[in-house]
Amino acid sequence: MRHEYRLFFEMGATGASKQVGALLSEFGLQWKPGVPGTIVVDSDRAARRLLAAAERRGVKALLEIITRYERKDALAGELGFVELGPANTTHFKATLPKDAFDLTAACPRCGMGGRLAKPHMLRKDSLRSKANFAYGHEGTFLILMRSEIGKEIVDATGQPECMRHPVLRSGEVVKEWMEAVPTAILPPLSRKSTGVMRNGTLALRNIGDGPTLVPPCPSCKRTVWAESHDEPCRLVYSREAIRSVRGHAVVLMHEVSNMSPMFDPRKREFSSLYGYPWPLFSRAAIEVLLKYMQTKHIRDSAWIRPVFSE
Ligand SMILES: [Zn+2]
Repeated sequence: MRHEYRLFFEMGATGASKQVGALLSEFGLQWKPGVPGTIVVDSDRAARRLLAAAERRGVKALLEIITRYERKDALAGELGFVELGPANTTHFKATLPKDAFDLTAACPRCGMGGRLAKPHMLRKDSLRSKANFAYGHEGTFLILMRSEIGKEIVDATGQPECMRHPVLRSGEVVKEWMEAVPTAILPPLSRKSTGVMRNGTLALRNIGDGPTLVPPCPSCKRTVWAESHDEPCRLVYSREAIRSVRGHAVVLMHEVSNMSPMFDPRKREFSSLYGYPWPLFSRAAIEVLLKYMQTKHIRDSAWIRPVFSE
C-alpha cells in the first residue's frame, strides 16, 4: 500500500492565484497537468510543511491523505470493500425499486437495519457493458458482477443467499449478472480504526472549512462515519465483531457513510440512498474477486480495500 498526500488550494479569492503560485515556486512544485488547485506530494512531512506555509500566507488549503492498496494488500485484511474505477458510468444503470427493503427489523426513524429483499432493476443497455463489476443503485456501493464470478463466490463460500440475479424493468431475470446481497450487519467499528471521523463529514465542505456535524440517529443511535483525511484511513473491527459475521460472504457496515440516506418515516420509503452503509466481502469471497480484478487500465479497474481485525 502507499499513501498519497493531496493538497487542494482555494483559488477563487482575490489574489489567491498569485499567492499560491509564489508558494509553489518556493517549494519547487508545479500543478498536476489539467488539475489547477491540486498538488500531490510524496510524504506526510512535505504535505504538512506546504500546509503550514499556505496558512502563513493566508491561503486556504486542505490536505487529503488517500491510501492506494495493491493486490498483495487485499488478503491482509479479514474483510474487504470493493472499489471500482469509472467504467460502470458508461452503459450500466441499476436501480432498486421503491419497495426494495423489508423494513420489519429496520429503525423506524432512519430506516437502517432493513433487509434488501428485492433485486436491482437493470436498464436494458446495461447488458452491453463489458465490465466485470458495476455499482448498483446510485449513492450505494452495492456491487453487481458477472454471473460466473457470483457463482464462484457461492461455491467458495457455500452461501447461496449472498448472490442473486437482477431483473429488467419487465421483470425478466438477467442471467448474465448477479448482485451481492448483504446477509448480516457488523457491530460498530473499533475505536482502533484510524483516519476515521465519527458524527461528522468533510464531503460537502469548501476548502478551508471544518467538518459538517451529522448527529447520530435519535432512535437507533447509528452514527455516520467519514474519512478524516488527516491520517491514513484504516478500518478496524474487534475480533468479536469479525467472529459475529463469520459464515457470511457479504455483510454491511453498521455506520452510514458521510450522511444518512433520506428516509421518510411516515411513508416508510427512501428518497435517496446516498450514505447507505458499505458492503464488505469475506476473505473467501475476496480470493475469488481478485481473480477478476485488474488495476492496470482505469476503465474497468477494480481493487479491494482491506478492513482489519484488531
Ligand atoms: Zn435509526
